[in-house]
Amino acid sequence: MPAPQDTSSVSPHSLLRSVFGFDGFIGLQEPIINRVMAGGDALVLMPTGGGKSLCYQIPAMLRPGVGVCISPLIALMQDQVRGLTQMGVRAACLNSSLDPYEASDVEQRLETGQLDLLYVAPERLFKPGFMDFLARCNPCLFAIDEAHCVSQWGHDFRPEYMQLSVLHDRFPGVPRLALTATADAPTQRDIVANLRLERAEVFATGFDRPNITYAVQPKNNGRKMLLRFIRDNHPGEAGIVYRISRKKVEKTAQFLVDNGITALPYHAGLPQAERYANQERFMREEGVVMVATVAFGMGVNKPNVRFVAHLEPPKSLEAYHQETGRAGRDGLPASAWMCFGMQDIAILRSMIDSGEAADTRKRVEAAKLGSMFAFLETAGCRRQALLAYFGEDIEPCGNCDNCLSPVETWDGTVAAQKALSNIFRTEQRFGVNYLAQVLAGKRTDRIVSFGHDQVSTFGIGTELSQEQWKSVYRQLLANGLCSVDLERFNALTLNERSWPVLKGERPVRFRTDPAAPKRLKKKARL
Ligand code: ADP
Ligand code: ZN
Repeated sequence: MPAPQDTSSVSPHSLLRSVFGFDGFIGLQEPIINRVMAGGDALVLMPTGGGKSLCYQIPAMLRPGVGVCISPLIALMQDQVRGLTQMGVRAACLNSSLDPYEASDVEQRLETGQLDLLYVAPERLFKPGFMDFLARCNPCLFAIDEAHCVSQWGHDFRPEYMQLSVLHDRFPGVPRLALTATADAPTQRDIVANLRLERAEVFATGFDRPNITYAVQPKNNGRKMLLRFIRDNHPGEAGIVYRISRKKVEKTAQFLVDNGITALPYHAGLPQAERYANQERFMREEGVVMVATVAFGMGVNKPNVRFVAHLEPPKSLEAYHQETGRAGRDGLPASAWMCFGMQDIAILRSMIDSGEAADTRKRVEAAKLGSMFAFLETAGCRRQALLAYFGEDIEPCGNCDNCLSPVETWDGTVAAQKALSNIFRTEQRFGVNYLAQVLAGKRTDRIVSFGHDQVSTFGIGTELSQEQWKSVYRQLLANGLCSVDLERFNALTLNERSWPVLKGERPVRFRTDPAAPKRLKKKARL
């Protein structure tokens, strides 16, 4: 067991050097560490590979007592603890993988102050009596890793995470950090509310992953396209292929194997032993392609995953960002490749349409789907569209499919002006369907009751169909030229980027084949 370090006179910087072997902090590590050292809470939003771990590991070692990291991922905990122990850090974990003897050994070291860092699974934390036990162990900070798991909108929702607000009540003086690599605005609000982090300082470095190249293609025999993509771009390299169903996972894995690619399936319906064995092979061997449902991936910390492919679009850009973020953790070039078909669009679309009149949850889900749809459709830079969803404004990246080979577009400047002006005239209170109806001049009861048949934009958009206007709005949204208010029925609103368009200072182009809403009509009735 490593000897306890006398850290009373040690600075974060010297610990960074002596224990971790790094010369300087990166990103926002230093201000975050200072915040926690001073006893404050922090919400840390940093992309994968941004260096989140040190933000709590260093304060845990410097503050008297034990730092507690709550993580939903047992495999990841074990990796972390192994790495830390090798560097001489007094770290351990408590989770279901330990036998009772090992667990009681860890508990004894905790109680006698022999640990600086404890990784614990949330369900362990809420075992009867554990909080009282923890109170005797002098916790000096709580780090809540993968904090987006607290959001019920997200696809990684973990009910146990909801209970983590008790840490605030039970240990009011102990600083807490919530860390995540993926959180859009609704998820961030959930983290703050559900973890009681109202007083946390927010540290956000931006979610861009510059080494990932994004590309999206219309689907025409997805498996064959996938095979070509792998052969042309990533032969013999490790990758993850996401599919929507277990059956498709198995078929696609078999198809790749039949074509000479080392591919393995992963989904929640496989026996645990097989799942585990496949994951191990993916981690240890070079050049394995994992074909999986979304059940695979969180905490899969393989640095040299060279591509992530989607044969169906995920339900939100948040999920897409997280799933594609598993590529290129080592910082070397990597691909995020997706194809989507009319049927995938029809499914997304019907989920949006049926979500319209429903409760808040459905509305948020519908808005998330809408953003995904807009991303598929955009003629602009994919990275710009993706980051706009997280509230970041960047220049076109020059490194995505649309930047590298521009799609056919039409001059949409006037249409954009009409569309934005229509948002303004109807007081920024309505969603895409309503706005498209006003432009088309539909005298519905609702429109008449709001007096919007009297506004100057009523009926000025007959040159396009309502479907095309919806596409115009989605593309405006995708390019950050308007915003969506999730709190107010997904109303579209203007933002600071809308005004240059309205004033005629900024031309706008839309793509000509916007996921073909017209061709879709037949299939949508399937
Ligand atoms: P995250 O949890 O945000 O995905 P990690 O904490 O795992 O990121 O760190 C990502 C990588 O960056 C790791 O390999 C880590 O060793 C490295 N790293 C972290 N901080 C520094 C630093 N200050 N200097 C150099 N490398 C760092
Ligand atoms: Zn781009």
